[in-house]
Amino acid sequence: MKKLDISKLDVLALMRFDACTRCGECTATCPTGGEAQDVELVTPRGKILRLREFYKGQYGLRARLLGPKYQSDADLDELAKRAYECTICGQCKTVCPAHLDTIDMWENMREFLVSNGLGPMPEHQQIVKSIENYDNPWMQPRTQRSRWARKLDKDITVKDSLKEHSDVLYFVGCTAAYDPNIRNMALDTATVLSKAGIDFGTLGNEEGCCGSTMLRTGLREQVRKMAEGNIARFEQAAPSMIVTSCAGCYKTLRQDYPMFGKLPAKVVHITTLVDELLRSGKLVPTKRVEGTVTFHDPCHLGRHNDLYDEPRRILGSIPGLKVVEMERNREEARCCGAGGGVKTAFPDLAGKISALRVEDAERTGAGILTTSCPFCYQSLKATIDAKGSKLRMTDLMELLRTSL
Ligand code: SF4
Ligand code: SF4
Repeated sequence: MKKLDISKLDVLALMRFDACTRCGECTATCPTGGEAQDVELVTPRGKILRLREFYKGQYGLRARLLGPKYQSDADLDELAKRAYECTICGQCKTVCPAHLDTIDMWENMREFLVSNGLGPMPEHQQIVKSIENYDNPWMQPRTQRSRWARKLDKDITVKDSLKEHSDVLYFVGCTAAYDPNIRNMALDTATVLSKAGIDFGTLGNEEGCCGSTMLRTGLREQVRKMAEGNIARFEQAAPSMIVTSCAGCYKTLRQDYPMFGKLPAKVVHITTLVDELLRSGKLVPTKRVEGTVTFHDPCHLGRHNDLYDEPRRILGSIPGLKVVEMERNREEARCCGAGGGVKTAFPDLAGKISALRVEDAERTGAGILTTSCPFCYQSLKATIDAKGSKLRMTDLMELLRTSL
């Protein structure tokens, strides 16, 4: 039977696990808890209590006096599976009266599971292999990464920031670069930057995966080399600002990369930059876009980064567009179901959560659902298509570009 090595569980996480008062506030809001088979074990409180049982059974006072109590391998596998059913949406963090940073706790818990050979889930291995071999999770050749730019209007120039200095470095991200259904996100972002007169470029085929999926599944050490490679290229490009259009890349570059090295410029999400450009009059939407739209807050922008107002101001600037809110919005927004590696390992669970979010949007009466994250886009669009919803999925930059 396996003995858990708790050395990888950091002290702060251990203190946080012990600080949980078991009040259960988090269990009511957890999107996974509501949809998974075993409600209690997958909820924040359940995971915390079970993990505590494990390490106290092996390292606590009783264990020292009476000898450790080992759990069966099946129990450990069950704990790992439940830990990976969490989308790391952060909803539990916002409601926890003990102010526990559960986002950090779940990521650390996964690192601990990886260090004990219990994670990630077998379904994640293919993505890990793809990132290691191709620098992207989609098993696509490196030489095709910048191919999306060929579809840009001829008058738009995207510099190669490694050869020629550009003020802004646009970090495209793997999904917008490779997924033909998401490629418009990169095209629209580049078009908006160009129309604002921004001097920008990309790393072209030299851009590497940011490592978000691996970090979220507990593979921090495996990301180090990739992150250091990207940071070295940022240094070579020396921009004054790094802009992402992916919420996952944004969180990773902004919050995780400082663990691996110093970035030469601040990291900004496209919604923040565009909001500034609109407010300074450098971008002026003039064409009417008729319709009613509702905005889905990506977890990595909202709860993970407190970025709520900027996308709403952008929507508000588009003439003709009527903006309505879903009942659960901003801090309370329901997750799209795709995050934290859930879509890869538990697609049915991800689909159920995504369906609830699409229903949230349908209840507003809006005809357009928009967001600012390729993963949320992918997940919600798949559900809209599967259920034959009348909603039209768009990226926020597409709506703005249409009005310029
Ligand atoms: S992060 Fe989200 S899915 Fe995970 S336990 Fe918290 S509320 Fe549930
Ligand atoms: S809300 Fe916080 S303190 Fe209460 S059970 Fe959940 S994690 Fe523990």
